[in-house]
Amino acid sequence: MKKIAILGSTGSIGTQALDVVKSNPEAFSVEVLTAHSNADLLIQQALEYKPNAVVIGDESKYQFVKDTLWDAGVKVYAGAQALEQIVEMTEIDMVLTALVGAAGLRPTINAIQSGKQIALANKETLVVAGDLVTKLAKEKAVNIYPVDSEHSAIFQCLAGEWHNQIEKIILTASGGPFRGKSKEELATVTKAQALKHPNWDMGAKITIDSASLMNKGLEVIEAKWLFNLTPDQIEVIVHPQSIIHSIVQFTDGSMKAQMGLPDMKLPIQYAMGYPERLKSDFPRFDFFNYPQLTFEQPDRETFRCLNIAFEAMRHGGNMPCVMNAANEIAVAKFLKDEIGFLQIADVVSATMEKVPFISNPTLEDYLASDTEARRIASL
Ligand code: NAD
Ligand code: MG
Repeated sequence: MKKIAILGSTGSIGTQALDVVKSNPEAFSVEVLTAHSNADLLIQQALEYKPNAVVIGDESKYQFVKDTLWDAGVKVYAGAQALEQIVEMTEIDMVLTALVGAAGLRPTINAIQSGKQIALANKETLVVAGDLVTKLAKEKAVNIYPVDSEHSAIFQCLAGEWHNQIEKIILTASGGPFRGKSKEELATVTKAQALKHPNWDMGAKITIDSASLMNKGLEVIEAKWLFNLTPDQIEVIVHPQSIIHSIVQFTDGSMKAQMGLPDMKLPIQYAMGYPERLKSDFPRFDFFNYPQLTFEQPDRETFRCLNIAFEAMRHGGNMPCVMNAANEIAVAKFLKDEIGFLQIADVVSATMEKVPFISNPTLEDYLASDTEARRIASL
């Protein structure tokens, strides 16, 4: 029985992870649940899954959550610091980081410090400080199991191949809702259009990132750290059907791909259950519903964020951290109708030019760069 802490249990990944727990009561139990502000859903989840403790990020909701869960005997904490500390609880075996953004960095570092296995959905953590996080995980003999579907695909392709050298990996991208659109067309797209992803139902931030291809850029950097690759070993192709989740090419030229219907429950369950493959009743893929799987080049001119991310990765240092923070601000602005879709890339690249470069950042440097990038991007 693995005892799991789910950070961000009220989100898209968090709720699907709880479905996986529900279907596998002999394999998993829930030790901790956390949410940012959705107190009602957090309470409902706590009553159903009976965790030891919950954390509500929004401190104004603490009393309400505490009073409501009093009879159930669930411990209740509030605030960002409680979130950072709760992962240290001795009972926890694995921490699933399903919260969104750079807010995941400190709790993930603390969880690794305490020797907890990590199921990582929160890709921003590796984008911000992949060098520190992977180094610490190595020191503490902690495994980081990818939840992101592309990285889970690579991880699944590497099973039994750990001693073999990777020539390159190919991350697939659906292309998002705006695939094929020109710059002129993108100038006037709305938030509602951007939030309609063709293949995946996800949180708002990652859905906008998927529309701008920044999500693929973040995933390129995530892959660099997870699989210890150089920038030249990572390619991106657009595959609109989202059936092939990614590909590894070995030094003999052989390629392995992992495929299946787009359903995040599978990579979530694989990360949580590793090394077992647990039986599931997820819908099965049928070739004849998809007689054509197609592939194309990403349009890097129109969707600038992909190249911006490659550039940030090649620079290294605090550059990916600055890019990520600026992107979080730009996406939030776009979601508030304060900027247009094409300005997301403008805000990110302008911020990257303005924040001082640090080649070997400490954790404090990363946190300061994140703050400074948010300040500049908000201007
Ligand atoms: P979401 O917006 O649906 O949910 C986010 C969760 O995090 C919520 O429970 C929310 O309460 C919590 N949260 C938000 N801000 C927080 C903060 N500042 N501090 C603490 N908690 C906070 O997001 P999601 O789509 O589930 O994505 C979560 C993470 O997983 C992201 O990093 C995303 O990139 C990654 N991911 C998601 C998917 C997907 O299909 N949704 C796929 C791959 C990777
Ligand atoms: Mg992904």
